Amino acid sequence: MAIKEQPKPPRGRIIANILLAVSGIFLLINLFLPNLFASGPAGVPYSLFIHQVQEGEVTRVSVGQNQILYQLKNENGEPGSVFATTPIFDLELPKLLESKGVEFAATPPPKNSWFSTVIGWVVPPLIFVAIWQFFVARGAGGGGPQGVLSIGKSKAKVYVEGESAKITFADVAGVEEAKTELVEIVEFLKSPSRFIEIGARIPKGVLLVGPPGTGKTLLAKAVAGEAGVAFFSISGSEFVELFVGVGSSRVRDLFEQAKKQAPCIIFIDELDAIGKSRSSNGFYGGNDEREQTLNQLLTEMDGFAAGDATVIVLAATNRPEVLDPALLRPGRFDRQVLVDRPDLSGREAILKIHSLKVKLGTDVDLKAIATRTPGFAGADLANLVNEAALLAARNQRLTVAQEDFAEAIERVVAGLEKKSRVLNETEKKIVAYHEVGHAMVGALMPGSGRVEKISIIPRGMAALGYTLQLPTEDRFLMNEEELRGQIATLLGGRSAEEVVFGTITTGASNDLQRATDLAERMVTTYGMSKVLGPLAYQQGQQPMYLGNGAGNPRRMVSEDTAKAIDSEVKEIVETAHEYALEILRLNRDLLTTITTQLLETEVIEGDKLHSLLSQVQHLDKAATV
Ligand code: ADP
Ligand code: MG
Ligand code: ZN
Repeated sequence: MAIKEQPKPPRGRIIANILLAVSGIFLLINLFLPNLFASGPAGVPYSLFIHQVQEGEVTRVSVGQNQILYQLKNENGEPGSVFATTPIFDLELPKLLESKGVEFAATPPPKNSWFSTVIGWVVPPLIFVAIWQFFVARGAGGGGPQGVLSIGKSKAKVYVEGESAKITFADVAGVEEAKTELVEIVEFLKSPSRFIEIGARIPKGVLLVGPPGTGKTLLAKAVAGEAGVAFFSISGSEFVELFVGVGSSRVRDLFEQAKKQAPCIIFIDELDAIGKSRSSNGFYGGNDEREQTLNQLLTEMDGFAAGDATVIVLAATNRPEVLDPALLRPGRFDRQVLVDRPDLSGREAILKIHSLKVKLGTDVDLKAIATRTPGFAGADLANLVNEAALLAARNQRLTVAQEDFAEAIERVVAGLEKKSRVLNETEKKIVAYHEVGHAMVGALMPGSGRVEKISIIPRGMAALGYTLQLPTEDRFLMNEEELRGQIATLLGGRSAEEVVFGTITTGASNDLQRATDLAERMVTTYGMSKVLGPLAYQQGQQPMYLGNGAGNPRRMVSEDTAKAIDSEVKEIVETAHEYALEILRLNRDLLTTITTQLLETEVIEGDKLHSLLSQVQHLDKAATV
């Protein structure tokens, strides 16, 4: 809606200009109108008129506001031709006329002339004043309750203590380190004086960093809930849609409101939307609005001194690397709290929290569910519980069963089933071979999880088919052999297409991307290349969740080293590719057998799948992986 209001200021200005022009015309008309109409009788100089009066040549005079009309006597002394002259302020005139016996009278000003006078002299200034006040009111950013006048107002949502759904740390699980750090913030908010008296500096800004859905927003609310203070929340992306000047005034309003309610928390979600490094916006040619907003934020954060008012600014981002360094300076967001994806016990705890809201069957084993959901963030787990409950309801069950969870996991993993998406027969065959290729190679690889399911029912937006490999445990360390095995598994799909059809389709692009990223990390991060040795060629420490290495900055390396890295990565991927091809060639018949079954049933899983895959033969030279 803010966007719709955008054209208004220029329109207002145009209206103002039109009014200005109109009133100008009024003024001109007012000045010249009398003279235009004075063109009736011949005009004579006032001095001549006076002379004529003194000479007794004038018989009648009519004094108007804008002109004097007078009649001369003709030769017979009778009223003759009429002349006009422009009056001057002459108090002697009546006396003179009287003394000469001239008949004289004042003409009342014509009605429309009076009217135009009022319009011309009174109304335009009034309009001016009105317009002027309008702009002044608006420039000050204050004013009316709604509409144009309130666009500058902060739209922060406020949650105040005592609201029905009060969120506390008990609602957040699996992020224990983050909680420990934030407990301290709660203490600051509860009894700031204790810290101020001892001379400690209360942190102003705390940045919550972590992947989406890990509970950053939830943690911020929990801090407010625990401390029992007001919570102002606004999202960085809301600033970006605004037009120039509004973003910064919103920041100003937000901080003003907050200071009135101190102690309180301001929460800025998606900080990266406003806080992008000011030097990194080359592509967009600079975004003045965002810069102004960012500058205002920095100013406000510098503005409140310690002890002034306990306002703590929490912010969240999943892209800390793009933030302007100015934001991270002392006195601003100098504390950073990592909110990472939960581990096994964390997932179990989160599942416990969310399953309190649903009726669980007696067979539900939350630990088993947690084991099967590595990489799930808190939001995924919340979604999982809800999906399971929906499935149970759809199946007319009164409680949620373990099998509902099993199905829900698949849904969350791969998106909802989309049976409506139809592949033609050829495509279906290619997808089937592709997936079976993944499964067969994966079945032989060390350290990779058991293949639990192959499906050619399209799910979600991306996958046409999928192979579900479930790890038996959370893995934190992998050796070189296992990584090479993963790469071979990723290439298994494409290799099957090659073995069977001799051609390659576009379906494997995501597999190739992931395989290449893995190989690159082996060389540049894990030091697994014999040629390049145990050196880290990647700059700094990149948390794992920041993507699979695509676009990560490399260390400045010499051209030779860069070439060596490229050739090593290529070598690893090629070797894995060859390996996958050989496995599939060796098991060519089994490949067709399993694929034929898959085409019939669309899904193969469980024991049936295990027994099929157990027939896959190892290469004799498997040791040389
Ligand atoms: P983020 O802000 O990090 O993207 P949110 O805080 O918005 O994630 O999380 C969305 C929802 O997911 C929460 O409202 C909550 O229901 C659930 N959730 C996320 N993380 C957790 C967690 N650590 N513990 C419990 N629930 C969580
Ligand atoms: Mg959030
Ligand atoms: Zn694939």
